[in-house]
Amino acid sequence: MNDPHVTSSAKLNRGNGNNTEKYAPAQSGVKHFDTEDIANAVNIGLCVVNAAGKVLLWNDWISKHSGIKETDALNQPLEQVFSEQISPAFLSALKNSLTHKLPVVLSTALHRTPLPLYHEFELGIQQPRMYQSISMTPLRSQHNEPCCLIQVTDSSTSIKREKILRSHSEILKKEATTDGLTDICNRRFFDAHYEIAVADAKRQKYPLAIFMVDIDFFKPYNDHYGHLAGDAVIKQVANTLKLQLSRATDIVARYGGEEFVLVMPHLAQDIAEKFAEKLRAAVFNLAIPHIKSPSFHQITISIGVCSGIPEKNDNLLNKADTALYQAKQKGRNQCVSISLCETTEYLEQ
Ligand code: GH3
Ligand code: MG
Ligand code: MG
Repeated sequence: MNDPHVTSSAKLNRGNGNNTEKYAPAQSGVKHFDTEDIANAVNIGLCVVNAAGKVLLWNDWISKHSGIKETDALNQPLEQVFSEQISPAFLSALKNSLTHKLPVVLSTALHRTPLPLYHEFELGIQQPRMYQSISMTPLRSQHNEPCCLIQVTDSSTSIKREKILRSHSEILKKEATTDGLTDICNRRFFDAHYEIAVADAKRQKYPLAIFMVDIDFFKPYNDHYGHLAGDAVIKQVANTLKLQLSRATDIVARYGGEEFVLVMPHLAQDIAEKFAEKLRAAVFNLAIPHIKSPSFHQITISIGVCSGIPEKNDNLLNKADTALYQAKQKGRNQCVSISLCETTEYLEQ
């Protein structure tokens, strides 16, 4: 009678046609509880099945969230009680627990909705299943029959919290590598990416192209049109540069202020020159008025490009920057290309 494993004995017996069992009176004689009342009062789902898989206990919580009355569940094989499918992982865990008499906890990460349980039932409306956390505990009936107690808790809140935390951490990760104004890669991302790109091109011996891009006469633009209008131009130029890229391996980053840098692997010098011209033309074609730009009266960019297979201490970025300086010297709104083996010392004279 006082077998500690048979906590659900009243309901088990009820399933077998006997509903008289009570907890044993406490020695002090304080209070008696009907196990059925307790099973129905708890805020978790309780179900007991015997070795043949038949339902011996079905509490109010599980009735409420399955839409299946206790009278329709008792003595029925669990698999047939639900009109929808039970997850195969749940059934095999149950079989294991009954066969080996071992407790089982279903992983909530892998099995979020094993049973067809719902928060609410609305006629004609298909609701999403409730997220569940399920554990199975072997126990014995009063008749020493092996059974399994299935406990189900609603894990929706913790899973929602987990999803929110994950999305926050993804936002933080994105913010750490994205430029706030333009939404392209930021300088921090570029610095890390550039090192990796150069090391890979060196190791695998393929040409890497670096483009330094700078908006021409941008200070006078800001002075004349205001800082907010200047911001809008930086955004437009960034977006235009980004739209020219089509390969997943290419990146454009905001290098600082009104300067951008593009990293494009597997791009030899001649193709890189044509691509630079495409970038220049794309920004020119935006035709953004700039009455303080002495020669063009619209927003233009200058580009320095350097491409080649890097070796030892080759510095593609410095050479692209030198090429940009030349483009500025030559009058702006143009592209200058320096190959990796070309010496640039004359520029410093
Ligand atoms: P150059 O053709 O030689 O590049 O001339 P420039 O006027 O574009 O170059 P300079 O370096 O003299 O000025 C760059 C200007 O870019 C100065 C600064 O006010 C502006 N700038 C830098 N960052 C931002 C920004 O985030 N927003 C805005 N609106 N302006 C910026
Ligand atoms: Mg600049
Ligand atoms: Mg500039």
